[in-house]
Amino acid sequence: MLRRSPHLFGAAAILAALGPAPAPDAYTSQRQRMVREQIESRGIHRADILHVLRTTPRHLFVPEGIRERAYDDCALPIGSGSTISQPYIVALMTDLLTPQKHQRILEIGTGSGYQAAVLAQLTEHVYTIEIMPDLAESSREKLAGLGYSNVTVRQGNGYRGWPEEAPFDGIIVTAAPAEVPRTLIDQLARGGRLVAPVGAGWAQNLTVIEKRVDGALVTYSVAPVLFVPMKSK
Ligand code: SAH
Repeated sequence: MLRRSPHLFGAAAILAALGPAPAPDAYTSQRQRMVREQIESRGIHRADILHVLRTTPRHLFVPEGIRERAYDDCALPIGSGSTISQPYIVALMTDLLTPQKHQRILEIGTGSGYQAAVLAQLTEHVYTIEIMPDLAESSREKLAGLGYSNVTVRQGNGYRGWPEEAPFDGIIVTAAPAEVPRTLIDQLARGGRLVAPVGAGWAQNLTVIEKRVDGALVTYSVAPVLFVPMKSK
């Protein structure tokens, strides 16, 4: 699918490979501003990630009554006690995951489906698990309706992961477990990365675990964050 041109390099080549931008909508300028003021200004510079954030209709992933606030610099309630993450946190976690076009990704905590939609445009396939049946159902319908055909939504408990599709090149957890579940680390491919908010209660750290090609694990903390707790086994 990647079209190559001898005249295009770097960011221009990536944008060409992503294809034409979707038609502008009423929120196009709000999205541009969101990326400029909340994301680029805070140090996210990967061109394909910025392009996806500029073109993904985040307002369609929040309840109709709060559409006007979809591009604000904060998380928003989406029902069932869940939230859609702050745009910058979506961008940061996506960047830390280092997604590539050929990769298969597992997400725990589908929520609104927005993070899955972003990753679907940067990878081959996204498998995403949501514990709340109504959210799993509505996000499945929404993602399919918007044409994200490389996302599979399952209702279930993320602590078990998705053994039938493992191993994954990347795993992103968008609800906070007290500790990263061993099952998920086991379902991560060698050379893969897991990104998760980790910590009991409100003291969470955004954490990256790299599984080296020899199987060794390297863990580091990036920043304090605030996510809804991961519902337990
Ligand atoms: N990625 C989402 C943000 C989700 S908020 C987005 O882009 O909108 C976290 C979600 O994780 C909530 O919807 C919550 O119901 C779900 N969740 C909590 N515990 C879970 C578990 N054990 N397994 C799967 N999903 C879980």
